[in-house]
Amino acid sequence: MIKYLIIFEGELIMHIANWHEYRNKIKLNNTHWINGSFVESKSGQTIDKQTPIDGKHLVSFARGTKADVDTAVAAAKKAFCSGIWSDLAPAKRKAILLNFAKLIEDNCNELAMLETLDMGKPISESINVDVSATVNCFRYYAEAIDKVYGEVAPTGPDSFAYIIKQPVGVVGAIVPWNYPLIMTAWKLAPALAAGNAVVLKPSERSPLSALKLAELAKEALIPDGVLNVVLGYGHEAGEALALHPDVNVLGFTGSTLTGKKMLAYSSQSNLKRIYNELGGKSAVLVFNDYNNLERAAATLAGSMFYNQGQSCNAPSRILVQEDIADEMVKLLAKRAPLHQPADPLLPTTGMGAMVDQKHMERVLAYIETGNKNGAECIVGGKRALSDSGGYYIEPTIFDKVTPNMTIAQEEIFGPVLSVIRFKTEAEALQIANASDYGLQAGIWSNDVSRIHRLARKLQAGTVHVNQFDGDNITVPFGGVKQSGNGRDKSLHALDKYTELKTVWLQINTDN
Ligand code: NAD
Repeated sequence: MIKYLIIFEGELIMHIANWHEYRNKIKLNNTHWINGSFVESKSGQTIDKQTPIDGKHLVSFARGTKADVDTAVAAAKKAFCSGIWSDLAPAKRKAILLNFAKLIEDNCNELAMLETLDMGKPISESINVDVSATVNCFRYYAEAIDKVYGEVAPTGPDSFAYIIKQPVGVVGAIVPWNYPLIMTAWKLAPALAAGNAVVLKPSERSPLSALKLAELAKEALIPDGVLNVVLGYGHEAGEALALHPDVNVLGFTGSTLTGKKMLAYSSQSNLKRIYNELGGKSAVLVFNDYNNLERAAATLAGSMFYNQGQSCNAPSRILVQEDIADEMVKLLAKRAPLHQPADPLLPTTGMGAMVDQKHMERVLAYIETGNKNGAECIVGGKRALSDSGGYYIEPTIFDKVTPNMTIAQEEIFGPVLSVIRFKTEAEALQIANASDYGLQAGIWSNDVSRIHRLARKLQAGTVHVNQFDGDNITVPFGGVKQSGNGRDKSLHALDKYTELKTVWLQINTDN
């Protein structure tokens, strides 16, 4: 899915012949980045992390607490108020951010390696999707920012009112582990381009690439204090950031459960604006009038198993019209072997490891629940490659899932696809919308009226028609209902990190 985010000059080149050897040459930073330097936690405490590739210890990194967050926010506030970044002409911020994007591109191998070691995704995807999309995202907002105009209000001849967009101040960004670089870029790029200072809290499951980004930001001449990274657990560092009275806007991506807490933190502190990008359980409706089921199955299996199924918008509920369901299930099953997990450090690997043991066990528990509830597991369903010590799960397909089953309602966030059969369009729509989530949806049909009818009625931020991979930095990404309220990407994301200000002038009409 997210691979098509890239409108890029081409795939980044993988210069490394042996990624296992390269792994040992990589330096792993492990402390916070505050005011332009690496700093230890004030408490001295650390968090141990394994790599999901083989389950071995990877790094011990700083465990941030409120004290570290306070220091980072103070640095960000000071940098913001100094005007060293916020008062720069947009064209100057643009030049620096383009420089930053170039440095990210130049360091693509190292960033990709950090991403793969941290969360287990295949190295070829880390480099050609995650790093590429990150470069592209910074370039996009850098290029956009000196093309944003204010407005003049049509007030009348005796006054002049103009409206400008200003940076909001200190932006807190809290991001998950499934696309650590991309999710970070989706927050940082518009926030920095707009002139804000940022404190980023990456996931405790994937802290590494954010620290490399911070180092590169300094090299790109982003002033000290404008970008800060505090590591640590959500309930410690994350909570302190979300509660901080000097954070003006919080961009959050993560689970719905945590997103709800963000709203509480805001109301308990300073009413900071919260933009929530949360979980999903995307429904895809496949109708018997669609003429290429083979293509539908290949696309949907690819999207579902991409990133080991750990994508917020994964098409995890496939609703198929009854008379084509057997055929569609057969075609989906045929695709599954193409997505078998393998060593993420081999360039040929297309499916890697689950982020950690706890998450793997959570996904396996959902598979067990599916079996117990009477769904029919037709492919996969087990842990794979356990001899490696890593955390791998076979691509798994359940047939004969009913809409109220747990596996049809809850976000599994793993390579587990549910097929639900339906008879009529009305029934399909009802099932699709009977979800707390509303991130994305899909329609496969050749009936143009049906497509438009359903596209309007499906409760989702994005509706895909006869594809599921369409994505691009130019279009907004976000959901409705309990999938959140924010929109990352596109020019709309700049609105999240800017304030509208009106300036009134009286004009003396007598001369
Ligand atoms: P999570 O909610 O557990 O954690 C996300 C981030 O929030 C992490 O940095 C974590 O440390 C922090 N956090 C956790 N508890 C916190 C608290 N009490 N206070 C402050 N911060 C806290 O989610 P996750 O497991 O890291 O990520 C997976 C979830 O993210 C899935 O639900 C997925 O659908 C969602 N997601 C959504 C999008 C989107 O754009 N809508 C994109 C990617 C992932």
